[in-house]
Amino acid sequence: MPELPEVESLRLYLACQDLVRRTFVDISADWPGIENTEDGLGGLSGLRGRRIEGFSRVGKNLLIRLDRGVLWMHMGMTGRLAVMFPTEEPMRYARVTLYLDDERRIELDDPRRWAGVRFEESAEDALPNVGPDALDAELTADEFVRRVKRKRSPIKSVLMDQTVLAGVGNIYADEALHRAGIHPARRADRISEARLKSLFAAVRTSLLQALKYIVDHPDERGRPYVVDAYDDRMRLQRKKSATCPDCSTPLQTRKFGGRTSYFCPKCQS
Ligand SMILES: [Zn+2]
Repeated sequence: MPELPEVESLRLYLACQDLVRRTFVDISADWPGIENTEDGLGGLSGLRGRRIEGFSRVGKNLLIRLDRGVLWMHMGMTGRLAVMFPTEEPMRYARVTLYLDDERRIELDDPRRWAGVRFEESAEDALPNVGPDALDAELTADEFVRRVKRKRSPIKSVLMDQTVLAGVGNIYADEALHRAGIHPARRADRISEARLKSLFAAVRTSLLQALKYIVDHPDERGRPYVVDAYDDRMRLQRKKSATCPDCSTPLQTRKFGGRTSYFCPKCQS
């Protein structure tokens, strides 16, 4: 599932495709029921004639900034983006195609159709109730501690709460908690400030290492290769026989909010 590092790698990819100042000339979409929306395109017809000004990301939300309005995108479970040349066949599961004035097109490919795309008036409209991005340079460790300390839920659930901090999902929450030696079930408001600060650093280290791994492993066309949860950028192997990379104790699992956590019962307290 695309998490912050995967979405940031898509943003970096789009940012270096020479797309700024290109204009959308047409749109097509293939989603169940989209023909029943007002414009037959789920509101995306408003993109026609809009010019691209840049690419932003908050958490797992990708924003294409336009001369008027923004295009919000979320990759869901299996979404990915590619900039295609006219000679190239559409991707197999192209759900939304944005045609550019230089004959290239941006395709959103998504076998499972859980990705989302919306044309909005402003970034604020596109991102209600989203907390600061985990890699936001203006987000300090003190502010992270303040936001987390307000919560009485298990720290694992708090890390995944996108209104507290945007961009940390199930896998990177586990990676960061292991790195910081904090048990996922520990109540957020009862963790010391010093330990929360080390958790904040661990979140960033985990995300940045994963981003580097993804950027260093592009596919044959230079597009971000969206890796699954089992490759060697991860400290914790997410499978039954997995052991702790530091002490070799078998990892335990437990569910928080329906998502399975992997943790070391010896190193995390
Ligand atoms: Zn251990």
